[in-house]
Amino acid sequence: MNKVKLGVLGGGQLGKMLIQSAMNFDMEVHMLDPDAEAPCKPYAHQFVQGDLKDYDTVVNFGAACDLITIEIENVNTEALKALEKQGKRVFPQPHIIELIQNKVAQKKFYKANGIPTSDFIEVSGRSDVAAKAHFPMVNKLARDGYDGRGVQVLRSAFDIEKAFDAPGLLENFVDFDKEIAVIVARNEQGQVTTFPVTELVFHPEANLVEYLFAPAHITDHQAKEAESIACALIEKLGMVGLLAVEMFLTKEGTILVNEIAPRTHNSGHHTIEGNITSQFEQHLRAICQMPLGSTATRSMAAMVNLLGEEGYTGTPILAGIEEIMAMEGVFVHLYGKKVTKPFRKMGHVTVIGDTFASLRDKVERVKSTLKVIA
Ligand code: ADP
Repeated sequence: MNKVKLGVLGGGQLGKMLIQSAMNFDMEVHMLDPDAEAPCKPYAHQFVQGDLKDYDTVVNFGAACDLITIEIENVNTEALKALEKQGKRVFPQPHIIELIQNKVAQKKFYKANGIPTSDFIEVSGRSDVAAKAHFPMVNKLARDGYDGRGVQVLRSAFDIEKAFDAPGLLENFVDFDKEIAVIVARNEQGQVTTFPVTELVFHPEANLVEYLFAPAHITDHQAKEAESIACALIEKLGMVGLLAVEMFLTKEGTILVNEIAPRTHNSGHHTIEGNITSQFEQHLRAICQMPLGSTATRSMAAMVNLLGEEGYTGTPILAGIEEIMAMEGVFVHLYGKKVTKPFRKMGHVTVIGDTFASLRDKVERVKSTLKVIA
């Protein structure tokens, strides 16, 4: 096997975990990230500091590689198209990244391809929202929103002032029972696999994702439906690589797609310990023309994001780690970010266990014990 020179746009925690898998295949991994202290810097074969949105930076970075992928979708897709024209292999394909960068284009794609999703209309800005809204509705920025920052629930006319004054979507509010996610992969040969459905558990008061677990507590019928929607999506896109599909399970038991990400995803971290193949290895298999690995569950697992504690900014200090490390079936992943800030993703902890009750207990202990302070 020739040594693969893999270029990755983005050098954060997803890239770092991708390197861990790439080492098993003896790949040479090059990383591009705007942050001189990005988590991948100490581990990449070559680390380049530069702007992922800049055409020349991305083209020059890609020149040294034969296969190029992403760990973040906010990149210069024109540059990726130029690299493709030069004969480089680029996965996911640039036109798919471009489609997904725009939430309006994403929603139109679902509608055009019979993928179930909540109804929506396109809006040009706040006055358009005011003219078209009925309540409750959800206003989303077409571009550049992430981690909920481009999403605004509008409950009544009093909320119009919170609407984004920029092009976007106005979509029906989904009164969901659960949020679930399916990670699906497709290789160039057209083989498709899905990981078992992940369930997101929200904190009842804070309305933040508290932890995720898999397999989800849903019926077999619902799980099959979620998986078949994810397969239909990746096939209709014709995408090569890994696609994370976030969905709502409504109170009536139907499944609606919320959004997709063409890359490894937070909702798949538990696959490192919980499944035969991790999402990171699966992505590499998919883009390197290898057979996809088994996605079967080795163990029920839950994953807690380790967020910077409120009130602390600076060099991170991990409090409570000894107690956590003494527990069985607990796996700590620290991302190596140089500065902690309130709610910044500093790491994650996966726990495995034989029963849901044991997972829950371990999650509670991790959450109450392990803190990132400064
Ligand atoms: P981001 O890309 O920032 O993650 P999402 O589109 O995933 O944004 O929305 C963030 C969260 O907002 C979702 O996880 C969900 O809890 C809520 N949300 C988004 N769209 C809707 C909707 N149509 N109805 C109800 N809640 C929604």
